Amino acid sequence: MSASHQFPTRSVHLAQHPARLPSANISDDADHASISTSAIQRLSTLSIDDLTDDAIWRDTCALTGTLRTFYSSSRVRKVWEKLSAKHKPTNFARILGSSHVTRLGPHGCWVEAMFTFDIQEPRPARCSGIIGLVPSSSGFQSNEWKIWMLSTILEQPEGFRNVDELEPQPSDTKAASVHAGHREKYDCVVVGGGIAGLCMAARLQALGLSYLLIEKQATIGENWRRNRYDSLKLHTSKSYNQMPYEPRTFREQDPYHLGTADLADGFERFVDTFGINLMLSTELTSGSWDSDTKCWSLKMMSNGSNFKTTASHCVLAVGNQGVKPNMPSYPGRDLFQGEIIHGMDWRNADRWKGKGLKGICVGSANTAHGVIADMARAGFQSITMIQRSRTFLLPTSTFSALVDPLYNYETPLPLSDRMLLGYPLPVQRLMAKAGIKMCADASSEYFDRMEAQGWDVERDGDLWGMMYDREGGHFLDLGSAELVADGTVTVKSTLPVGYTSKGLKMSDGCHIDGDVIVFATGYTGNLKDTARRVFGDTIGNSLEEFWQCDEEGESRGAWKYTGHPALWYTGHGFAHARYYSRFVAMHIKADVDGKPFETYTETPSV
Ligand SMILES: Cc1cc2nc3c(=O)[nH]c(=O)nc-3n(C[C@H](O)[C@H](O)[C@H](O)COP(=O)(O)OP(=O)(O)OC[C@H]3O[C@@H](n4cnc5c(N)ncnc54)[C@H](O)[C@@H]3O)c2cc1C
Repeated sequence: MSASHQFPTRSVHLAQHPARLPSANISDDADHASISTSAIQRLSTLSIDDLTDDAIWRDTCALTGTLRTFYSSSRVRKVWEKLSAKHKPTNFARILGSSHVTRLGPHGCWVEAMFTFDIQEPRPARCSGIIGLVPSSSGFQSNEWKIWMLSTILEQPEGFRNVDELEPQPSDTKAASVHAGHREKYDCVVVGGGIAGLCMAARLQALGLSYLLIEKQATIGENWRRNRYDSLKLHTSKSYNQMPYEPRTFREQDPYHLGTADLADGFERFVDTFGINLMLSTELTSGSWDSDTKCWSLKMMSNGSNFKTTASHCVLAVGNQGVKPNMPSYPGRDLFQGEIIHGMDWRNADRWKGKGLKGICVGSANTAHGVIADMARAGFQSITMIQRSRTFLLPTSTFSALVDPLYNYETPLPLSDRMLLGYPLPVQRLMAKAGIKMCADASSEYFDRMEAQGWDVERDGDLWGMMYDREGGHFLDLGSAELVADGTVTVKSTLPVGYTSKGLKMSDGCHIDGDVIVFATGYTGNLKDTARRVFGDTIGNSLEEFWQCDEEGESRGAWKYTGHPALWYTGHGFAHARYYSRFVAMHIKADVDGKPFETYTETPSV
């Protein structure tokens, strides 16, 4: 990140960042509590000898006022020294019971603990952190352990309410939450009432800010109920997908994999429980920024009439609105006599039920498997899946083995989020890879059956790379892989070269018969396109992209400075939207209070 903030920044794949997991030789009876206590206490006088050469430090708004990751002992030390002089961190203390030896089979081993500390200036704040330690022959004199990984996180600035706590509204006021009126001025307008917008709105409410959440659909959750395929189940678990705050939105009696109705019902419960200030059937159509008054003027269309409001900040939580289907084109389209559908428009296969049709699905990731399962239920005579390239297959048992210990009804959500998302992103990536590899090694028969049918399997893929670099493309199997493994679905791995009247001609000269062809081939476009459409080219062209990683291994644009001081992006997966919304809310609160976070933008040379 340069001081001049030239946006958009270059995207760098997560795997390219210089991180590794240490495989230290640490015995089971290592005194991790005293090892970590000693290291944590030394943070107030950190020296280069306390760090491994390849030490990595991520700061989430505590000292840098934004999301930054620093690599190498020399840079970490320089930045730490500079920012410590400014913020005067103190009271470093291990969180009791948080220390342990992390073991990832042959892929990693270190001592880890969580800690708290305070910063004193310019605005006092409570912070937390995670520290990773490996033994060394020199370093912390008392016990000879060095820091290989450090994470620091802003928890609560003085004078702020706790952004992780929100009281349910009393039941006698509940009817008032979804309303039709609006004020002339808000601290923040949040656009889009999906998971990201709802989390954002609740965080702003927790901090006592005035806000309006607008959603263009007529009911909350309609995007899930109507615009996604009917049989869709979230691939991640219910506990991972929770909304912030207690009581938990998704209840013990809800299914482990939430369906679209479970999700939409949960969104409505959340609005009702916390009295979220929501206007439905309301769309942001355009907006302009007044740099003198530092205010947005926002034009809305609500139930057919226009109105204007103003806001100090605007958060875009519009999801994949405006994205375009990625639709391969082949010659002979006019010849084909069947139906062609893109995965984005797929709802179900009901209208073909019992007709004995032949289905083709181009693509092999999550949506493609939803489509073939629907086709199988509708009794298609044949189903062919065209797998264009090797696909990362993640059985749900692997997801559960790795994620359920973190996300469950016993562990407080704020703690779960820090234990998954608090680490530097390249470290998160490596930890996920190591866990997936260990599970994959134990599931070879499952993968073998897929391969026996010609499905090209990536067994221990790079989940974080898929999420950050490609935004998908993997297949988290909730059961439909069995349709491939048992031969119900035929796999073809050559590429289509053209249509015929009855299907697709393939590059190996074969023909695949099909009456219905579904392209589960993804989409292109992102939040920035919506920003440009709504706020115009001048603002739009100055903005950062949304998503993929920057040169430091932080996500571009999301939950931090976008290129405009009062415009924010939020979105992505459920856990990400939930966790990072807390930082955007604190940024907005600090600005509304007249003391915006000072952002550290330097990158000292090493
Ligand atoms: C099929 C599918 C399965 C998925 N499964 C998972 C999963 O298992 N786990 C996971 O973590 N993620 C999953 N995801 C990703 C998931 O969709 C996103 O994580 C999440 O929905 C993003 O939420 P969002 O609030 O950013 O966007 P959305 O859910 O798209 O919500 C955006 C909202 O903004 C509204 N809106 C748009 N423009 C305007 C405007 N101008 N004015 C007012 N309102 C507007 C829309 O109507 C919409 O309600 C899945 C995605 C898909 C498509």
